Amino acid sequence: MSKHVVVLGAGYAGLQAALETRRMLTAEAVRITVVNRVPYHQLITELHLPAAGAVSDNHVRLPLDKLLAGKNIDLWIGEVTAIRPDDHAVDLAGGRTLQYDFLVVALGSETEYFGIPGLKEHSFTLKSVEDANRIREHVHRCLETYRQTKDRSYATFVVGGGGLTGIELVGELADALPGLCRQLGIDRGDVRLYCVEAMPTILPGFPEDLVARARQSLEARGVTFLTGQPVVQMDPDAVHLKNGDKIETKTMVWTGGVRGHSIVAASGIEVERRGRALVNEYLQSTSHPDIFVVGDSAVWMGPDGRPFPPTAQLAGQMGAHVAQQLYALVKGGTMEPFQPHLAGTLASLGRKDAIGMVGEKKRRVTGKIAAWLKTGSKLRWLADIGGLFVRA
Ligand code: NAD
Repeated sequence: MSKHVVVLGAGYAGLQAALETRRMLTAEAVRITVVNRVPYHQLITELHLPAAGAVSDNHVRLPLDKLLAGKNIDLWIGEVTAIRPDDHAVDLAGGRTLQYDFLVVALGSETEYFGIPGLKEHSFTLKSVEDANRIREHVHRCLETYRQTKDRSYATFVVGGGGLTGIELVGELADALPGLCRQLGIDRGDVRLYCVEAMPTILPGFPEDLVARARQSLEARGVTFLTGQPVVQMDPDAVHLKNGDKIETKTMVWTGGVRGHSIVAASGIEVERRGRALVNEYLQSTSHPDIFVVGDSAVWMGPDGRPFPPTAQLAGQMGAHVAQQLYALVKGGTMEPFQPHLAGTLASLGRKDAIGMVGEKKRRVTGKIAAWLKTGSKLRWLADIGGLFVRA
């Protein structure tokens, strides 16, 4: 009888796991069900673009029914409310339950607020297409209100966190603001765009020269960096910094960190302190071997014993690897340890600029070349999932 593989989440890891499993195993061998909250695969690495209005959201949401058409994969759109490992069951909103033989958990991550008062209530996040649309509409509304009231807090935009998400967003906003200001008849000089970072430099983990390059590029386009300045409180009208400074604003986009998914943490699957599932070398949960956990929902330790950064690249590779393990389990082969091959990191700094480190030697790339490589990696992903010509 065919085994039932349930995949929770159709992000980079889950979608790849489902597609690759189907490439390797026939419908007689496994039935595959993908559960996703929204009816599309989101290109989360590109969300800064629609958030700043550089592209429409159609460019970052690919309908799952089209991506999965003809693949013999069942699709269920809805929220996962609980994973019950002891019952081999997953509960979905609306009272439905799915039984599985093998479960692939790829629910992604959630925003980490570090318990900072008011932050969750009064900030935006950039983790979904809905988030990106909310930010774009809010920025427009604020500038419109500023035009009418001249209240500077409406023309002050703050990005909290100078990691990759924060920097890519701030770069895109910096490029969008001149056009928006012209359109609304506002002087660009009246608008403030801050990036607040707790650490002494932005882009922690990047080499100094690339950080300096990024900073210079963004400052030239009107970004003000406040580094070594943790956000300690957020009100509806102001961001408070550790040194006592206050930035009056109606807009804080919080990109200060991620943690594991709360459904995973609540499920009884073994997790570490940030709620990410612990997995063995085959990507099985250390507590429940019939559950694979991939992408941001899991923590993958590097050879130095430190966790790998949770990236789309790693997620896609984990998803593909799970398919091979499922093949071994269903067909009776041996499982293989996961060995990520990371091609590097690229950070866009707006429409025309980017920085990155590529290849095993982490060769530095900047400017147009880095921007092209970033576009290339998106196209490779789209080709991989059969999404090059799929549009919403
Ligand atoms: P992150 O954790 O990498 O960065 C968050 C930043 O916020 C850090 O620099 C941190 O010091 C800062 N911060 C934390 N608390 C703060 C506070 N109280 N006040 C001010 N600053 C504070 O988070 P991210 O940027 O969302 O990235 C998450 C993961 O996704 C990372 O692994 C990243 O590599 C990956 N990612 C990759 C890309 C890419 O490859 N282009 C793009 C986006 C994200």
